[in-house]
Amino acid sequence: MIFYSPKHIEHKPEKEIDKGIFVKNSDTPQRIEEIAEILVKNDYSIQNAKEFDESFLYLVHDKDYVEWIRKRSKITPPDQEYFPEVFGYDRLFDTGTPVTWNSYESALYSVFTALTAAEHIVCGNMFSYALCRPPGHHASKNIGGGYCYFNNAAIAAKYIQKNHEGNIAILDLDFHHGNGTQDIFYEDPSVLYVSLHGTPEIYFPWIEGFASEIGEGKGKGYNLNIPLDPDTGIEEYLKLLITGIKKINEFSPDCLIISLGLDIVEGDMQGGMNIKTEDYKKIGAVIKELDYPLLIVQEGGYDGKKNGEAVINLFDGLEIKRRFL
Ligand SMILES: [Zn+2]
Repeated sequence: MIFYSPKHIEHKPEKEIDKGIFVKNSDTPQRIEEIAEILVKNDYSIQNAKEFDESFLYLVHDKDYVEWIRKRSKITPPDQEYFPEVFGYDRLFDTGTPVTWNSYESALYSVFTALTAAEHIVCGNMFSYALCRPPGHHASKNIGGGYCYFNNAAIAAKYIQKNHEGNIAILDLDFHHGNGTQDIFYEDPSVLYVSLHGTPEIYFPWIEGFASEIGEGKGKGYNLNIPLDPDTGIEEYLKLLITGIKKINEFSPDCLIISLGLDIVEGDMQGGMNIKTEDYKKIGAVIKELDYPLLIVQEGGYDGKKNGEAVINLFDGLEIKRRFL
């Protein structure tokens, strides 16, 4: 089952600050709308997300952080955007993540979308896809950034564990390292985090995503970062993906969550490797080996048309229709 909320459309940041100048913000509603359109065209049905209590945010986030985002959103006039003061002054770590009047509500419904999809898994189903926006994997317990306010995938993981004891693996395929998700589960051996991403030596979020970060305390050995060179092609990518898949199979989780960023596709304005939308069939075919209940949570990907093509190809590779629908 595929879940979605039209509330994301109201969150429409126009600008961001990149290297000191205003540029067009890449987190457009269109990047998700085009995925929804192509899914419908290909006979997938999409359900509206349910509403949950706002306290589900506290499964992951500190109360004062949630309150900061809510208040900041509420006091921003509809025709303006608030640009965070970085370096610890505000609760967002970069100027690429402005707050608009409706950021809180859209981020909340993005969480509801992930929760609806997680509930579908808790109810015994083997597949669901949360078409979330804004994305979540850069958001930690008490700070957001990278277009992310609340960590949809982490909240979904906690929700599943709360309702159905067990271990969860999160496979993060976004071009950028999911520093928020890593932070949240860094000392937690019940959640394995595996991420393939552009090397932080060159790419956002720069501060995390190195192979040497393997978890801490009880969580040591439950964090696997696989940094990629900028010109990585599909053959190399699949080889490294298989390393991640082996790690997940050794862990043998009760549920697999994929943080699905599509910004590794060639030409993406925020990422882009030597990987084409057709290659997602191969990526799906390899991931299909992971035979666990599967929850896919949408993250980045900034070209709507290519996002749509990549999702359809990934679903073909995973044989979603034959196996689950
Ligand atoms: Zn990304």
